[in-house]
Amino acid sequence: MAFKHKKKYGQNFLTNANHILNKIIDVSGVEDTDSIVEIGPGEGALTELLLENSKKVICMEIDTDLERILRKKYDTNPKFTLLMGDVLQQDFQKEVGEKVKVVANIPYYITSPIIHKLIENKNIISEIYIMVQKEVAERICAKKGKERSVLTLSVEYFGDAEYLFTIPKEDFVPVPKIDSAFMSIKLRENNKYEELVDEKTFFKYVKAAFATKRKNILNNLSRLGFTKDELREKLGSIGIDGSRRAESLSIDEYMDLIKVLEAK
Ligand code: SAM
Repeated sequence: MAFKHKKKYGQNFLTNANHILNKIIDVSGVEDTDSIVEIGPGEGALTELLLENSKKVICMEIDTDLERILRKKYDTNPKFTLLMGDVLQQDFQKEVGEKVKVVANIPYYITSPIIHKLIENKNIISEIYIMVQKEVAERICAKKGKERSVLTLSVEYFGDAEYLFTIPKEDFVPVPKIDSAFMSIKLRENNKYEELVDEKTFFKYVKAAFATKRKNILNNLSRLGFTKDELREKLGSIGIDGSRRAESLSIDEYMDLIKVLEAK
């Protein structure tokens, strides 16, 4: 009996897409010395190639209907491990416990929580290669312009994101409404940004700067308790015009801005 796709689990499976699967393996630089985590293996289209090309593949899948299919295909392969359950509840430190690359066509309804979860485990995750909705990849990877958001900066703070290639919606079953994209996030081992400004302070300022999209940074940052004159003067001292909007600032400008505003 054919598998019935579940919308609630974001199940759009790659199909007849060998050229895409090969491209994923290629751009992810998967090698036989790599251990891989695959989130949401589905029926195992990508799993097959990951098993062929790497040292080990740990799959995390929530849908128990897929367990039988996956076990039947790969359980005899010693490189294969299947962890059933919600990826967001998985204890990566305990269950994975070694340096891995993440390579996956993830469930799109939890894209941000998955990215945050992976970043939280950055001590064991070096590189992330994921398929997401095209617009989301464009937003996360935007180096400048109105597509930038808190999510862009939260990724940028920890690593370097890159838009790799687009996958047309027709390559999935069932066909979704929009195209997808494959992207990477390389997490920094020695994080220059964390050394300059701690995570909590960074997000306090970034979230305030983006609080109201239509407002400029002068207005948005004043919610942190600064007067407008104070902001004008301090921003002016580092060459940032208070009438700019949050999305137009680079991460380095945020670093300067936070340093000058945090200075007593
Ligand atoms: N990798 C397969 C492919 O490319 O054909 C399937 C990708 S499909 C977009 C997303 C997969 O994630 C599905 O297999 C779905 O059941 C699984 N999934 C959904 N929510 C999940 C969760 N919270 N934890 C783990 N897996 C989940």
